Amino acid sequence: MAYDDQNIFARILRGELPAIKVYEDEQVLAFMDIMPQADGHTLVIPKSPAVTLLDLAPEAAAYTIQVVQKIAKAIEKGLDAKGIVLMQLSGASAGQTVPHVHFHLIPSSVHELGKHALEMGDQEKIKAFAEKIKAAL
Ligand code: AMP
Repeated sequence: MAYDDQNIFARILRGELPAIKVYEDEQVLAFMDIMPQADGHTLVIPKSPAVTLLDLAPEAAAYTIQVVQKIAKAIEKGLDAKGIVLMQLSGASAGQTVPHVHFHLIPSSVHELGKHALEMGDQEKIKAFAEKIKAAL
C-alpha cells in the first residue's frame, strides 16, 4: 500500500505535530497514545515509512521489536504494571486507523480492552506516566 506522508505519525516524526515522547533514537520513536485505552498506553513506531507490519523491512521490524521490549520493561518497572498487552493492527480491516506501522503497549488485560477511547486523555496525567516510563528506561 502506498505510504501517505501526511499521516499523523509521519507529521509527528517530522516535528510538525506534538507528541509526549518517552524514547527516541535514529530508527524508532516511542510516545504516549493521546487517547489511551489504559493508563500508560504507549506507541512504538519505526521511523521508516511503512504502512503496516507487512510493509516493514525485516531488519527494521527486528530492531523495532527490541525497542518494544525495552519500553515494555520500562512500563513494567515505572508504572508497576502487572501485565502488558502488545497490540499491532495491520490494515484498516483489522481496525488500523493511522497508516504508519505502530505497536501498542497497553498496561491492561486483553479482557478489559474494548474499542479505542473516543476522547483525548488528560494531558497532564499522560505526561506524568511518560515521566515515570522515562525514569525507568
Ligand atoms: P490504530 O487504531 O492501531 O491505528 O491506533 C492508532 C492509535 O493512535 C490510537 O490508539 C490513537 O489513540 C492514537 N493516536 C492518534 N493520534 C495520535 C496523536 N496525535 N498522538 C498520539 N496518539 C495518537
